Amino acid sequence: MNQPRILARVVSGLAACAALSACAGSISQQEEVQIGQQNAAQINAQLPMLNDGTISSYVNSLGQAIARRTSRGDLDWHFAVVNSEVINAFALPGGYVYVNRGVLTNASNESELAGVLGHEIEHVVRRHSVKQMEQMQGANIGVGLACALTNVCQNTAAQAAIQVGGTAVFAKFSRGDEVQADEGGFNNVINAGISPRGMLTFFQKLLSEEQQSGGGNASAWFSDHPGTQDRIADIQRMLNDNGSRISGLRTDSQGFQTMKARLRQLPAAPRATQ
Ligand SMILES: [Zn+2]
Repeated sequence: MNQPRILARVVSGLAACAALSACAGSISQQEEVQIGQQNAAQINAQLPMLNDGTISSYVNSLGQAIARRTSRGDLDWHFAVVNSEVINAFALPGGYVYVNRGVLTNASNESELAGVLGHEIEHVVRRHSVKQMEQMQGANIGVGLACALTNVCQNTAAQAAIQVGGTAVFAKFSRGDEVQADEGGFNNVINAGISPRGMLTFFQKLLSEEQQSGGGNASAWFSDHPGTQDRIADIQRMLNDNGSRISGLRTDSQGFQTMKARLRQLPAAPRATQ
């Protein structure tokens, strides 16, 4: 409905680049941050955000602790929770990371949540979505930003989300990107002093939910994160190879359990339409 208008606004952010085909192939960090900022403003306005002091500050501090130790620690990182029980997470260029409430609900310890954040952070560190934008020809940028890019906008939340999702710079990542994000995410989590084992246990949990219930809240995860079964094997291998680095790292924290206790007190999330 209002999608063309919003899309036009987003595209205008890229206009300087889109107008010059010579520009294709190079998005500066400043442009990247601008793209992320514009899209984050749209998302924050139109997705149901979970703005709870205890939960937001915990997720933000965990995310910052992981992101600051990456090679892009200089970015102004932002972490926010979408009030949807659909299990998913996504990142915008420039350091804007979103995790759905469903991830918090289904994570049993800090290591599991850290694994999801570490993975999304790595997509930003590796500039996966920026590279996709750089590869698009100017004329196709508008199409590229459309909802066709992603399942996130269909699954994350309700109708409004579908509208805003159409404008967001969500990348649909390749399996290769996903493997990179797992490997980098694995190290990001370790560097923050947290055990990466939760990456394995969380994926296993999602897989068994997917197999038992035919998807439910986990189905979006599998459409946005292809090859989860292969990735479980990869993560198992990394855990085996890094035993000595991992032993002694923390799996949980008081902050995580306080966040979970607060989560249980909140009214239910609005139902997503799928
Ligand atoms: Zn991913």
